[in-house]
Amino acid sequence: MTPEGQTLLVEGASELGLELDAGQVEGFARLLALLREASAQMNLTALHDERDIVLKHFVDSLTCLRGGWLEGGLRVLDLGTGAGFPALPLALVRPDLQLVPMDATRKKVEFVGRAAQALGLENVHPLVGRAETLGRELGQRETYDRVVTRAVAALPVLAELALPFLRGGGLLVAQKGPIAPEELEAGRRAAAEVGGEVRGVEPFTLPVAGDARTLVVVEKTSPTPDRYPRREGVPGRKPLF
Ligand code: SAM
Repeated sequence: MTPEGQTLLVEGASELGLELDAGQVEGFARLLALLREASAQMNLTALHDERDIVLKHFVDSLTCLRGGWLEGGLRVLDLGTGAGFPALPLALVRPDLQLVPMDATRKKVEFVGRAAQALGLENVHPLVGRAETLGRELGQRETYDRVVTRAVAALPVLAELALPFLRGGGLLVAQKGPIAPEELEAGRRAAAEVGGEVRGVEPFTLPVAGDARTLVVVEKTSPTPDRYPRREGVPGRKPLF
């Protein structure tokens, strides 16, 4: 990573109240190199420019730490992690979190596993599969303290995919761009249908870059009815609301 890239990373993290140490900065620099190397071989991420990766993947991933919703030694599922976002940046700065980056695309999850190993991140436990199927499995359903998710689906779809994984009192922390009132209202209704209640809607701007973002937090308030999630592909094709 160039000195400019390091400055952006440190400034961006600092705006979020995180003072990165030299080891963590080195970890991000290695992750950047791994991401670029793998992107040359496969379609891993749309972002290639160093500034974009630092701000829109690394710093953006860390914004889910805003609000203190992820404090403590929690078991956290990253639903639809793609190339490892937000899971890998979270694992780098929060060794106390146990992270399960999950995605339907095997080659992406394999990259995340290789990157975690190269970075010595023992708190990363990758998982391949679709949320609709994994969310019904023993050992997965109603077992997580938190689900984080970034750029995966609209809120009503996320509610159906994510809430089954959460134990009672667990939280979905969804990283969104600007959110329309209609999506929020549909998300509230979908959450209620699958055992959740919206607890927080926090608009903010991405450090340094200034892009509009929203963190939506949904609490698991009652067990998810057995009929959810519906079959693979149905939540996305026919959202609950
Ligand atoms: N979260 C990453 C990020 O912010 O860079 C990746 C976002 S990418 C746009 C969406 C990812 O979600 C894809 O990798 C896709 O395979 C995954 N995905 C979408 N629906 C899914 C599902 N039902 N179960 C598991 N993964 C899913």
